[in-house]
Amino acid sequence: MEKKQFQTESKKLLDMMINSIYTHREIFLRELISNASDAIDKRYFRSLTEPETGLNRDEYGILISIDKDAGTLTVSDNGCGMTEEELENNLGTIAKSGSLDFKSENTSDTVDIIGQFGVGFYSAFMVADKVTVVSKTYGADTAWKWESEGVDGYTVEKCDKDAVGSDIILHIKPDTEEEDYCEYLDQYAIQRLVKKYSDFIHYPVRMDFVTDKLVEGEEGKTESVTERRTLNSMVPLWKKQPADVTEDEYKSFYSQKYFDYEAPLKVLHYRQEGTVEYTAMLFIPSHAPFDYYTKNYEKGLTLYSSGVMIMERCAETLPDYFSFVKGVIDSSDISLNISRETLQQDHQLRTIAKAVEKKIRTELQKLLESDRGKYETFFKAFGSQLKFGVYSDYGTHKEALQDLIMFVSSEEMKYATLKEYVGRMKEDQKAIYYACGETPEKALRLPQAAAVREKGYELLLLCEDIDEFTLQTIMNYDGKKFVNVATDELDLSSEEESKKLEDENKSSKDLLDFIKESVGGLNSVKFSNVLGGHPAALSSEGGMSIEMARVLSKMPDAGEGLKASLVLEISSSHPVTDKIKALFENDKDRCAKYCKLLYAQARLLSGLEIEDPEEYTNLVTELMI
Ligand code: ADP
Ligand code: MG
Repeated sequence: MEKKQFQTESKKLLDMMINSIYTHREIFLRELISNASDAIDKRYFRSLTEPETGLNRDEYGILISIDKDAGTLTVSDNGCGMTEEELENNLGTIAKSGSLDFKSENTSDTVDIIGQFGVGFYSAFMVADKVTVVSKTYGADTAWKWESEGVDGYTVEKCDKDAVGSDIILHIKPDTEEEDYCEYLDQYAIQRLVKKYSDFIHYPVRMDFVTDKLVEGEEGKTESVTERRTLNSMVPLWKKQPADVTEDEYKSFYSQKYFDYEAPLKVLHYRQEGTVEYTAMLFIPSHAPFDYYTKNYEKGLTLYSSGVMIMERCAETLPDYFSFVKGVIDSSDISLNISRETLQQDHQLRTIAKAVEKKIRTELQKLLESDRGKYETFFKAFGSQLKFGVYSDYGTHKEALQDLIMFVSSEEMKYATLKEYVGRMKEDQKAIYYACGETPEKALRLPQAAAVREKGYELLLLCEDIDEFTLQTIMNYDGKKFVNVATDELDLSSEEESKKLEDENKSSKDLLDFIKESVGGLNSVKFSNVLGGHPAALSSEGGMSIEMARVLSKMPDAGEGLKASLVLEISSSHPVTDKIKALFENDKDRCAKYCKLLYAQARLLSGLEIEDPEEYTNLVTELMI
């Protein structure tokens, strides 16, 4: 029999196909099942106008058979089949899609055909060294057999087949050292693949399962029984109208797919129409998965194209700051043949990802406004991720996210959004004040925090490493700047008070220089009137706050340059200050010791360690005797 050559481009393509287009070999089954489903759709479509060509709706189906002895895996359908000419055209030319032609000829909405690229079929050669297609169309007096061993070419000849439809017979490759092909002859492996990729194909995908059963009455004796099972569940939950899906259905879908036995905090299930159309079913978990804050966690929604799974955890579907969202996206606009490598360039997918991001954002905003308790549960689990989102990418997303973040506030120690804070600001209040500490309580204990509270102003209490970086990235909210109370940015004085303080600092220059000298390591020493009853406190000058320096110095590649410029602030009105002034005149040695003590105390209040604990305890002991 004459062996026909694939067209030259086809040869190259076939080679490429077998070796590189698909990252996972196992998807060949998904491709064959999709083709079978398309073929049934076509036959069904034709029968709408020519009833005699079709079957009853419930007779349509796809059957998978495994013949271990022959080493074959067969996918059979009772779809439209192919004529000799169609076999030549559709399978003899790669990148020729009969399905695409069918789609453009029938522009009815009822056709939801999957194929359109004309390469899927060839993925069979990734696992088979020979593929045989036996096919018959309605009314034909003979069936045809197409056969190929890959790039060499193919043959087409007449053969026998009773029923209309196609059998795709894969002669599975023998195992090699690198690759086990025999799993494609294992019924459980095949069942798993159907579940994974083709669970929502509209037609039943069946397989004859062989299992050993105990023979009744005969102890220990088994016989093998064959039982035809349907492997796919057919109707994807997300394709149902949201109103028809029960809470329990969402919950069980979620727990099965994502192994989380706590119910999701919120489900977003919707269909988007417009430039790109897609259906989404998204879940916001109620707690962070155990590996969420590790690098093992993989973000991404599962992508489906008309019910066929294309990719699990497709990272491109979610920005990092929403990486906690789980769920599926189903769009017939996404091509089946997309691979991880081509994803980033995929325009449709980018448009969908954008729309999804916006949807999640609006829904979170709504949750914040309508159910504070739930939102706070959410925020406790994933708030850091949102704050990180503000900070990352040079603040590109800050506008989108700044109204979703919260901080504990001095107002009853409850969470506050920036909007709420600004809404409560006092008339004469110039800035949004915040204090940093290991816990909100510790932050509130800073001397400068007390001064701000005395003014009647609210304070945000920052306790996470990312917090101050987040606010620094936002820079201004509603025209108000953020002020860390432990920096030289803090200014609570009236013009008159400032003037007075400035004069005092000038006239005591000798004393202040002496203190700086005695303590060491300070950038400057000055009198202050914002210490809320405390004798002394630390603050910083320049852009780097004490808190930021602390966080940065923990980074693995922290250099020496990451130090805050420390300022020792001494209360202008505290009795201790009078004492120091007096000692400066009479007993410089003692004065220096007192200053060291004040500095050590200020460090403790700022959450810093005492630099020289031994010197400190000696000084205190000396005082006690
Ligand atoms: P695509 O599905 O993207 O069109 P394929 O390479 O998967 O590309 O298939 C090529 C063509 O072969 C299909 O468009 C279809 O016309 C035809 N075909 C493949 N499998 C079958 C089948 N089981 N029954 C009928 N036609 C089929
Ligand atoms: Mg196909």
